[in-house]
Amino acid sequence: MPATTGVPARPRLGVMGGTFDPVHHGHLVAASEVAARFDLDEVVFVPTGQPTFKQHANVSPAEHRYLMTVIATASNPRFTVSRVDIDRAGLTYTVDTLRDLKTERPDADLFFITGADAIAQILTWKDAAELFDMARFVAVTRPGHALSVDGLPAGRVDVLEVPALAISSSDIRARARAAEPVWYLVPDGVVQYIAKHRLYRGRDE
Ligand code: ATP
Ligand code: MG
Repeated sequence: MPATTGVPARPRLGVMGGTFDPVHHGHLVAASEVAARFDLDEVVFVPTGQPTFKQHANVSPAEHRYLMTVIATASNPRFTVSRVDIDRAGLTYTVDTLRDLKTERPDADLFFITGADAIAQILTWKDAAELFDMARFVAVTRPGHALSVDGLPAGRVDVLEVPALAISSSDIRARARAAEPVWYLVPDGVVQYIAKHRLYRGRDE
């Protein structure tokens, strides 16, 4: 909306969903790059409750994942963390995440951020067709994953190349289990949080 009309522009809210077990610099760079490129006012990180595609895996308690995400994002004035998924009972579906955020922030335009691996799955998500009416999607590049948005609605999905960080939470968990370093893969406070709570030690993947 042009400024001359006197109507304030709608806030542009990025949504970074993830298990964040733990949050790492790949997530943070993706959010930061999308925020800059799409002129976002804020990016809200939304840790999942019991994750849909990881029902059988051993996922850390939501409070640990939430607190690590708060620690990792605390220094960025545009980054926030939402509890909507961890406070909702049952499995986490992105359609519910977006519905709850829209209820909380009816004035905002939503931009859902996903890596190449996640966007490849999106048509299998619950109420997939509806998702594209609720938010624009931004798919970012991720090392080791081909990025394709074939078959997704034109004009509702953008692609963005971001600095390649070959970091995954799975690898960080494996390192922590093996008492190998995780420094510089995650923010320092998250390294310390993992050590303090002995996360991932003695745990099967
Ligand atoms: P796991 O190995 O447990 O699956 P992960 O590293 O994939 O963890 P998730 O919490 O599953 O992290 O990912 C949340 C979102 O962040 C997804 O959309 C994923 O594609 C994206 N993402 C994760 N790591 C990167 C990365 N290094 N570069 C770009 N995007 C990433
Ligand atoms: Mg993943």
